[in-house]
Amino acid sequence: MSLIVQKFGGTSVADCEKILAAARKAIRAHQDGHQVVMVVSAMGKQTDQLVQLASEITDRPEAREMDMLLSTGEQVSVALMAMAIHSLGYKAVSLTGAQIGIRTDTIHTKARIKSISTDRLHQLLDQGNIVIAAGFQGTDEHMNITTLGRGGSDTTAVALAAVLHAHACEIHTDVDGVYTTDPRVLPEARQLERISYDEMLELASLGASVMHNRSIEFAKKFNVPIHVRSSFSDTPGSMIVAEPESYAAPVCGAALTKNEARISVLGVPDRPGISLEIFSRVANRNVTVDMIVQNVSEAGYADISFTVPNDELKITLEAVQQAIEALGAGQLNWDDQVSKVSVVGLGMANQTGVAEKMFAALADEKINIQMISTSEIKISVLVERASALPALRAVHAAFELTKQPEVSPIPAAGHRPTADAAAVASRLQDVDMEDLMLDDISLDDTQGRVTITGLPDEPGIATHVFREVAASGIVVDMIVQSHDSHRDHASLSFTVPRSQVPAAAVVAKRLAAEFSCGGTSSEAEVAKLSVCGVGLRSNTTVAIRMFQALAESEVNVDMVNTSEVQVNVVTDGKDGVTALKSLKAAFADALR
Ligand code: ASP
Ligand code: MG
Repeated sequence: MSLIVQKFGGTSVADCEKILAAARKAIRAHQDGHQVVMVVSAMGKQTDQLVQLASEITDRPEAREMDMLLSTGEQVSVALMAMAIHSLGYKAVSLTGAQIGIRTDTIHTKARIKSISTDRLHQLLDQGNIVIAAGFQGTDEHMNITTLGRGGSDTTAVALAAVLHAHACEIHTDVDGVYTTDPRVLPEARQLERISYDEMLELASLGASVMHNRSIEFAKKFNVPIHVRSSFSDTPGSMIVAEPESYAAPVCGAALTKNEARISVLGVPDRPGISLEIFSRVANRNVTVDMIVQNVSEAGYADISFTVPNDELKITLEAVQQAIEALGAGQLNWDDQVSKVSVVGLGMANQTGVAEKMFAALADEKINIQMISTSEIKISVLVERASALPALRAVHAAFELTKQPEVSPIPAAGHRPTADAAAVASRLQDVDMEDLMLDDISLDDTQGRVTITGLPDEPGIATHVFREVAASGIVVDMIVQSHDSHRDHASLSFTVPRSQVPAAAVVAKRLAAEFSCGGTSSEAEVAKLSVCGVGLRSNTTVAIRMFQALAESEVNVDMVNTSEVQVNVVTDGKDGVTALKSLKAAFADALR
């Protein structure tokens, strides 16, 4: 018998009428011959109200009690949902996370799922019940109630779909599907027919999307097809599957992360272990860092900049301050008025000129780029918050995201278990469900690096540089631009094939002269180490373990970038093999 999971978000169960409407949808699926598991969120803005109540008592509620409080929202809606189904003449049973047996770790308010028992669910389903599961919650090993982080009901739904081998996971929500960008921010956004897990992972982690990013990690790991659709209309919705909508389009979506903060640590000694010192302290506070950019050093000193969500700025600053004290060096500088604009697409991995196109779109709008970080399928820039919306609009237009690309052939519908997924599932008998799982650790020893320092910090510089570089037939891979607010200039580093380093260095010198700026440097041979997997950025320990392994092997890191599916570091060419060995050893347990 086929089984489907239907998740209803807060707006889809906001009042009793909506609860009844959701109940009817589940009953319809049940009548069609499916076993049905519903996953339900708290009604409407209930969770926000609970958060508000807590804040009226104290600024710093204890996380354990916060979870106790927040989990009540879902308990209300599952009970009402069961009553609704009963009133329509069908059998239903509501269950809390604890009753299902959703086991999590002990990180309150951000818990990760370790395991789910399916016996009771199967039993109830086999008895003809619609099972209604409380989203967003579980219990730790001491039976403390935990929650999975805001929006976590999606993760509950996909995790249940995975362990129950559901044939579909429907996410019923207040939007029609997944869009090229948030349509509430840009009305011209287009609904996608389909998006790949990797693209969705990036967009979700940028805060752009309709879904909790960890739910997409599960979906990818277990190959669960997700169908995002409106609870209020019968429109087709969007599928989240392995394949992108189009293999030809370089970009499938753009995201604005409005409330970011930049933190810079200036003048730290450029030697192995410094990044570790800083980022391990930040990670210990469970803050997800993005856009890590390190200036290639001048005279043995480096500046390290990175971004964090604005509301985590305070605890991050505390952590960094401690690192500075421990290092006995470094100067702290930050900006809480910045936003991050990103474009994402599987197609960009094998096309040139994508970054340049984005920079040009921003230059045309006279928007200054403060920082740049590129990875295989994502390019992010940091801009002042006042320019955030025009920046998003410009980028969305430049990649013609309102136009539907030619859609690559549609994969067969339904659950398509692969040998891989089966292997992963069997492995999960021994490990935790949300444990880190890596696909590959690799060394690319074909590239070199070029850096231009002291560039004017004004609109149009990046596009000018990369247009010149491209005009000389040079293919650029990684790009990082750091912003140096206290010296009011920017420095730009990029990697190119080793054979093109001399030509790129010539272009760099010419540009440096043209801007009469600091200078250039190049490195004929760098090593690029990549760790590929799922959920790498949200799993704050990944970058730390990389830094740790490299520091222990005395390898200095020159460039870093992180995304959900890949973390790259660039080191000196001679260190490549050592670095690869140390990373493979450090992640031996996580490699599939
Ligand atoms: N009720 C929780 C929240 O609002 C979980 C969810 O809706 O997914 O964050
Ligand atoms: Mg909600």
